Amino acid sequence: MIDVYHAKDIETMDAEALKALQLLRFKKAVARALETPFYKTRLSAVGISGPEDLKTLEDIKRIPFTTKDDLREAYPYGLLSCPLSDVVRMHASSGTTGIPTVIYQTAADLDRWTDLTTRSLVAVGCHKGDVFQNMMTYGLFTGGLGLHYGAEHLGMLVIPSSSGNTRRQFQLMKDFGTTVVHATPSYMLHLHSCMEEHGYKPSDFALKKALVGAEPHSEEIRQKIQELFGIDVYNSYGLSEMNGPSVAFECDRKAGMHLWEDSYYMEIVDEHTLQEVPEGETGELVLSILIRTATPILRYRTRDLTAIIPGRCACGRTSRRICRIKGRTDDMLIINGVNVFPSQIEEVIMKMPEIGTNYRIVVRKDGTLDKLIVQTEVGPEIFSDDARDMNALKNRIIENLRASITINPVVELHEPGVLPVQEGKAIRVVDEREKKR
Ligand code: ADP
Ligand code: ZN
Repeated sequence: MIDVYHAKDIETMDAEALKALQLLRFKKAVARALETPFYKTRLSAVGISGPEDLKTLEDIKRIPFTTKDDLREAYPYGLLSCPLSDVVRMHASSGTTGIPTVIYQTAADLDRWTDLTTRSLVAVGCHKGDVFQNMMTYGLFTGGLGLHYGAEHLGMLVIPSSSGNTRRQFQLMKDFGTTVVHATPSYMLHLHSCMEEHGYKPSDFALKKALVGAEPHSEEIRQKIQELFGIDVYNSYGLSEMNGPSVAFECDRKAGMHLWEDSYYMEIVDEHTLQEVPEGETGELVLSILIRTATPILRYRTRDLTAIIPGRCACGRTSRRICRIKGRTDDMLIINGVNVFPSQIEEVIMKMPEIGTNYRIVVRKDGTLDKLIVQTEVGPEIFSDDARDMNALKNRIIENLRASITINPVVELHEPGVLPVQEGKAIRVVDEREKKR
């Protein structure tokens, strides 16, 4: 395998040099953070009044964590560290409370982000001559515009199709010979489920790769998409607070996502004690962005659960890799006292070939107890009116789930196309109980 890099010096930097670069960049980030009303108060409170107060990377631990609520509190300009006239782009993500968190970028900030997205695309073997159909939503959400610039920079032909309108997506893919798509994994599965109805089959397309991200998905889902389309599928991780896509990206080894450590400082902490966990253990990912001047964010608690994969990747890139995101600290379900992550359920059902491409988890009260309902679509060739066949399948799903999560679920089997499909991030869990927290 020939390894091609976009920025070889940085991508293959040894650990010591990388640490030195991180400290240098972290100091600059602190200097900029002190320009914002929000961090000026936060950092002075712990005795940090200038970059010189950060002598080693260990000193970073003195900086208080930043949360999504903090960012909301700082709305609209509390985290802006340069004159507004230097800002050329803003992105925002609106949470459940409706108060958005806003990220500003200068032209140079955008260039540095483009550099990372280009690097990520190269890592999965994309190149000039590829036709890139970007099925992520364009707009305030960073998924669409995020990879767009990197793909153009690399010289790919970019089709900014955005999300939705499956008929048009198929038409574009066919007429323009799309070789790479970028979409949520649930949208890829949805595309496949309505391919036949639109009169297409996988061999009608020149598709080679799909870059999937923006929502948690299991290894089994990756395998499923790979098999259904006959392509390679790569995992892409990012969040708007840290620019968007290309915080961490798989390389062609598919052995975890390289978190670009020259640009992000990563810590993995126990979500309760907030102490760093040993390498290899799962915890909450905490990130500081080192390459953005207009909106510095330090020690951001992402709520995403992952672990660092020990050791070096065979591709030669030295940025450490993180595991597939297991879920968010806030999406763990407590069902009759048992902790369950939706990802555990997904792993079990997606291993079963009879199960189709869509599923939903519903939790509701049944008297005083909690009831877990797993609704799945079954493949069109499997679905039948024979109640005995369907019951046998149901029982097998129940048994497999019980073996993994120790809970006895109710399983509902549906015909393909019955469960709701979202254009953006999939909503897999519906918790009908009263708000727990
Ligand atoms: P919001 O927090 O409003 O959803 P974003 O659109 O920035 O804002 O989404 C970022 C979040 O999406 C991440 O924190 C993570 O939970 C999820 N996410 C993004 N990429 C992936 C991925 N590859 N695997 C799992 N989860 C992902
Ligand atoms: Zn690698």
